[in-house]
Amino acid sequence: MISIKNVNKSFGDHHVLTDVSLEIPKSNVVALIGPSGAGKSTLIRTINALEPIDNGEITVDGISIHDKKTDINVARTNIGFVFQSFNLFPFLTALENVTMAPMKVKGLSKEAAEKRGKELLVSLGLGDKFDAYPSRLSGGQQQRVAIARALAMDPTVMLFDEPTSALDPEMVTEVLDAIRKLAKDGMTMVVVTHEMGFAKEICDEIVFMAEGKIVERAAPSKFFTNPDTQRAQDFLSKVL
Ligand code: ADP
Ligand code: MG
Repeated sequence: MISIKNVNKSFGDHHVLTDVSLEIPKSNVVALIGPSGAGKSTLIRTINALEPIDNGEITVDGISIHDKKTDINVARTNIGFVFQSFNLFPFLTALENVTMAPMKVKGLSKEAAEKRGKELLVSLGLGDKFDAYPSRLSGGQQQRVAIARALAMDPTVMLFDEPTSALDPEMVTEVLDAIRKLAKDGMTMVVVTHEMGFAKEICDEIVFMAEGKIVERAAPSKFFTNPDTQRAQDFLSKVL
């Protein structure tokens, strides 16, 4: 579903991604973990072309994301992206946040967009928050609205960049539960996370990055008990 081949990316003379290749089959959930500055955010952002790449190729569901001939706005409708900082539109209600793109980009009627939007908000435990503005919602609620907003476009893949890092501890679970539910439903996902217990539980594969490279890829059971590389062992000894 997601194919990354020999991707390189620099900011000026700083080589941030070096020859990164990764294949993610449909319905797989991959945790992208590693130290700060490893290039995790940069990599996940290249998947929906929030960052350009210097060379290599990325396809999502067969569409070449960085090809000049690809209409990226169309390609992006298949790729949901959830940021650490929620990024809701502050002047729109929860429901309006969720319905705006389906109406504007997909041409759904207001009625159809609201029907689907309400279903999504209800399924994320926000059935009583349709008319609430983001400033009136907790961080965990805002992040669940952000997830509903991404899902409203019926994406084929979902990307999460540290979705719980900006949350107070008591709100982490409600957001992880929402992602866990998506995994159960078979969504293909890449999740940058520092929640190791969660990664171990729901992910099919752990991809460990350091210094712009994929250092190790393994099943969670192997990675967390017996990683192959010293780099991963050092990292785990600090975070576990
Ligand atoms: P991670 O998400 O693993 O912490 P990032 O992908 O954010 O890592 O960053 C990787 C490296 O790229 C870091 O050294 C960071 O400073 C650098 N970097 C990220 N974004 C930019 C940018 N827009 N301009 C210049 N350097 C950047
Ligand atoms: Mg990051």
